Amino acid sequence: GTAPEDSKIVREWLSKHESGFGHFINGAFTKVGETFDVQNPATGDVIARVSQGSASDVDDAVKAARAAQPKWAGLSGHERAKYLYALARHVQQHSRFLAVLESIDNGKPIRESRDGDIPLVARHFYHHAGWAELAEDEFPGAEAVGVCGQVIPWNFPLLMLAWKVAPALAAGNTVVLKPAEYTPLTALAFAQIAAECGLPKGVLNIVTGDGETGAAVVGHENIDKVAFTGSTDVGRIIRQQTAGSGKSLTLELGGKSPFIVFADADLDAAVEGVVDAIWFNQGQVCCAGSRILVAEAVAAKFEKMLRKRMETIRVGDPLDKNTDIGAIVHPVQRDRIAELVNKGASEGLDLCQGTAPEGCFYPPTLATGVSPASVLWNEEIFGPVVTLTTFRTPKDAIALANNSRYGLAASIWSENVNLCLDIAAKVKAGVVWINCTNVFDAGAGFGGYRESGFGREGGREGMAAYLKQPKLKVKKPEAAP
Ligand code: NAD
Repeated sequence: GTAPEDSKIVREWLSKHESGFGHFINGAFTKVGETFDVQNPATGDVIARVSQGSASDVDDAVKAARAAQPKWAGLSGHERAKYLYALARHVQQHSRFLAVLESIDNGKPIRESRDGDIPLVARHFYHHAGWAELAEDEFPGAEAVGVCGQVIPWNFPLLMLAWKVAPALAAGNTVVLKPAEYTPLTALAFAQIAAECGLPKGVLNIVTGDGETGAAVVGHENIDKVAFTGSTDVGRIIRQQTAGSGKSLTLELGGKSPFIVFADADLDAAVEGVVDAIWFNQGQVCCAGSRILVAEAVAAKFEKMLRKRMETIRVGDPLDKNTDIGAIVHPVQRDRIAELVNKGASEGLDLCQGTAPEGCFYPPTLATGVSPASVLWNEEIFGPVVTLTTFRTPKDAIALANNSRYGLAASIWSENVNLCLDIAAKVKAGVVWINCTNVFDAGAGFGGYRESGFGREGGREGMAAYLKQPKLKVKKPEAAP
């Protein structure tokens, strides 16, 4: 299991806040008002009570962010960078605590939170500290957008916070962030870390609550930019809500990403790729490779290898270091996955499932014989469920890959690099991985096409999204003599 002392620190921290968590506004935690329960999905235990943010809480947070913004933007890039470096270092110092807390709150395996989520959070703040230093040179004349309203999902709770908060602060913006209602705890721990680092009050404000609280953030008239990650349905509402408001907007939404295996691929590596693509984070990943497209010539062999590998996947206690698939974030999501798979089964699909314990767990699932008309091909399941379809020619593969309303990511497996590069350019996806999958880096832009949203997070593009660029001065052509 996990080191018992790490779990002990988390238990002590939670019991210290037994009466509930307030919001983090203007550098301090507010009094606890109306609360909702937060559960550990693996056990069903209530582990915390968290405040339900009202419109007036959101208003207080926006006022604090507005008041703090000119001074924060007025600091030199180097001074802002010092705070971002401090945040990165403190995340590293508390990494074991944060990893356990994330796994208890979200259900993800400790191996992933410890080796994936939390190190990437620190990396994101380090990277954007660099941007804070460089922005004056790299984006001459650009200014911060102002106050940013950020609404994030539950699948990578602290990492999604980092993706949003780090570039916003680096660019001189201040933030009102609303974490997802299933997983607000690491955001609250991060607020404590921000206070510990001496981040000026009002620069980062965290208001917890449900979709109504999120809507109050998005709709607040004194917010300059909205950044949202979550479902395509809510993304659509937010797009309508902000239309004509003058607020800038970025949306990171759902996906149904293709995982394309050509006949000459290293099949062992591609099988491990599938494990990463769809059984990482219980498949609750917007860019999960949830549609396998495999060349007919190797399909039978590949499927056999994959089924064998599935038997070794361990589903269970998120705090056990040997666990591959932890708990689904919430019973509502588990039921949604089961319902979609049942629909697929009623369409006559062939299903192969591993085993999972009783409770809020779901086994690794492979559906074969899937046609583009079926529900499992079209719907984002957001669970450990993958479909498999065959193709004959590269042209067929591209047509199948692009047969989706989404366009977030794609993964291509072949030993022929020329073929990979050719296919990469033709697949409609914001991110294309070649002979790998689910690789993220703070230095690379991430984002979608079509119903997967718009705007990029990470890298230069992500930084640019938090800046108002000066209008390019276009020289008028001289009149002909
Ligand atoms: P959601 O879109 O409902 O929630 C995401 C965030 O938006 C949460 O913080 C939520 O409180 C907030 N929210 C909800 N309604 C809002 C509104 N009207 N205005 C402003 N904020 C609002 O997603 P969910 O219910 O957590 O998950 C449902 C589905 O969304 C999943 O099954 C999956 O398909 C998809 N999803 C995608 C991602 C992603 O990274 N792309 C992440 C989580 C969920």
